[in-house]
Amino acid sequence: CGIVGYVGSQSALDVVTAGLKRLEYRGYDSAGVAVLADGGLATAKRAGKLVNLEKELAERPLPTGTTGIGHTRWATHGGPTDANAHPHLDNAGRVAVVHNGIIENFAALRAELAERGHDLVSETDTEVVAHLLAEEFSSCSDLAEAMRLVCRRLEGAFTLVAVHADAPDVVVGARRNSPLVVGVGEDEAFLASDVAAFIAHTRSAIELGQDQVVELRRDAVTVTGFDGSPADVRSYHVDWDASA
Ligand code: GLU
Repeated sequence: CGIVGYVGSQSALDVVTAGLKRLEYRGYDSAGVAVLADGGLATAKRAGKLVNLEKELAERPLPTGTTGIGHTRWATHGGPTDANAHPHLDNAGRVAVVHNGIIENFAALRAELAERGHDLVSETDTEVVAHLLAEEFSSCSDLAEAMRLVCRRLEGAFTLVAVHADAPDVVVGARRNSPLVVGVGEDEAFLASDVAAFIAHTRSAIELGQDQVVELRRDAVTVTGFDGSPADVRSYHVDWDASA
């Protein structure tokens, strides 16, 4: 339902959880975060309100990192449980993905992954994406390219945002029939389903077009089509009243 991504020099966890709070008005049933830190990936997720996730983070603090993603979920496939909350990971725990929308062909992809020995642990349509991304990344070592390859195989409506422990300081996003906006800061960048998530940090935004993938680094935002063709990027100023 709500998505936030961050890469920069601040604590990603702080930026992401504050962003998720700004998206709370949309309604949700679970929440979770993933942070790249110490060469690995650290995650926390809980069914229920953000306060449940905050309690979990207070009991089991994550290592501090400057790249991270977060999600508030409105369940469509699988009930609102801790296991079904996003982020979803691959079996090695190296890639984390959050998703808004519905992946229509997830059952076929799930069966295909199971045949190749993947162990899927949730009931969501989303989890297949983490496994497919891990496979593609292992052959191309480029998270944006892996995302493009995976998106070409997906049907339905989706906003996807992902990080990989072997791609430090990178967040990638993709969208089809579901919104995704980039926030461009100074030596930092944001991704969100709604500008409300990053308006406290920057007013410079880029709206992602249909069937596009974005690679976010601190100092670079690269947008391409799902086919890899470079896309025109035009930033605009957000006038929207942050106090509303
Ligand atoms: N279809 C996904 C799920 O049920 C994403 C739901 C959402 O948009 O929050 O987990």
